[in-house]
Amino acid sequence: MHPFTLERPDDAVSATRIGSAPAAEYIAGGTDMMQLLTDEIRCPEYLVSLDGVLDDRIEVLSDGSLRLGAAAKMSDIAADPDVSAAFPVIAEALLLSASGQVRNMATIGGNLLQRTRCPYFRDPGVQACNKRSPGSGCAAMNGVNRTSAVLGVSKHCIATNASDVAVALVALGAEVHLVGPGGERIIRLDDLYRAPGDTPHIETVLDSGELITAVVVPPTPTARRSYYLKVRDRVSFEFALTSAAVALEIQDGSIREARVAMGGVGTKPWRLRSVENALNGRANGIDTYLNAAEYATEGAVTRAGNQFKPELMKRTVVRALSAAGGRA
Ligand SMILES: Cc1cc2nc3c(=O)[nH]c(=O)nc-3n(C[C@H](O)[C@H](O)[C@H](O)COP(=O)(O)OP(=O)(O)OC[C@H]3O[C@@H](n4cnc5c(N)ncnc54)[C@H](O)[C@@H]3O)c2cc1C
Ligand code: SF4
Repeated sequence: MHPFTLERPDDAVSATRIGSAPAAEYIAGGTDMMQLLTDEIRCPEYLVSLDGVLDDRIEVLSDGSLRLGAAAKMSDIAADPDVSAAFPVIAEALLLSASGQVRNMATIGGNLLQRTRCPYFRDPGVQACNKRSPGSGCAAMNGVNRTSAVLGVSKHCIATNASDVAVALVALGAEVHLVGPGGERIIRLDDLYRAPGDTPHIETVLDSGELITAVVVPPTPTARRSYYLKVRDRVSFEFALTSAAVALEIQDGSIREARVAMGGVGTKPWRLRSVENALNGRANGIDTYLNAAEYATEGAVTRAGNQFKPELMKRTVVRALSAAGGRA
């Protein structure tokens, strides 16, 4: 591990001041960052601890929104009765993420900003990775790409975003609250992530030193009837091959509003607007689900190893809709 200076700021404003230095990185629960430091994928000069800097409250606000302080632990959010009752897709996505030990350490802020699990990005012995070393090439393009993305890809990078809960939060239209050297701002989580284009090393729209302070999920009639389905190679402790977060409002047997997002297939959590449009106003049932799922693969681009993904995507969407549509 490269030597670094550990900084322990007292508050968020001091953290962003130190964190905006070019060679600074934040660390929250450390479950991703420690691996990257150990493998020398990240070599900061200053490691800025967020311990005690951000709040960990989990609260339903007076308008029914859910507010998650950025330091809230994945396990605490998953176990919160308000979350599982009113926003089940969030609790389910968290419980299907990582392991109990990781969830006890990891924060929601860190989860949203964890780095990709592309094996080449994680392997310090691999030279060709545009995300790690801009302009070096992409070993995944013609290499092992079974887990790679099919949506939002570019000729420079096909790595998936790894976060499960981000998929659920994008489906529910969550916002992230940010603080940086320039002050505070609120953006949609969907807008936080950037597709790789020709700058895959720039993964978010965060300014230098900017911190996530909270995630706020608006109260929607859809959230109560929501579901997260994750398809993976092993039953536990594994990232998604495909996943779907769906949320439905059903009235008199018809789908009044649908929200659908997928994970494991996009370079960012992927909201499926065409699928939603094919569900809205239609009878709640399998024929509608099968028809809508056809739109899930719009724009998909496969490589040799992940040609199975489009068919799996459709099946994942149908299964998730069937589970949510049958939910009381
Ligand atoms: C074996 C294993 C299996 C896993 N499986 C899954 C899985 O199935 N699904 C899944 O979703 N995740 C999975 N994970 C990833 C895990 O969920 C993340 O490591 C964890 O959520 C990161 O949170 P953290 O608080 O530990 O972040 P850290 O490791 O401390 O930080 C992660 C990144 O976020 C930045 N950061 C942290 N907090 C903030 C903030 N508030 N503002 C700005 N930047 C911030 C850090 O600088 C760093 O770049 C797995 C991890 C492991 C080790
Ligand atoms: S897919 Fe992206 S992260 Fe993976 S090797 Fe290529 S450039 Fe690197």
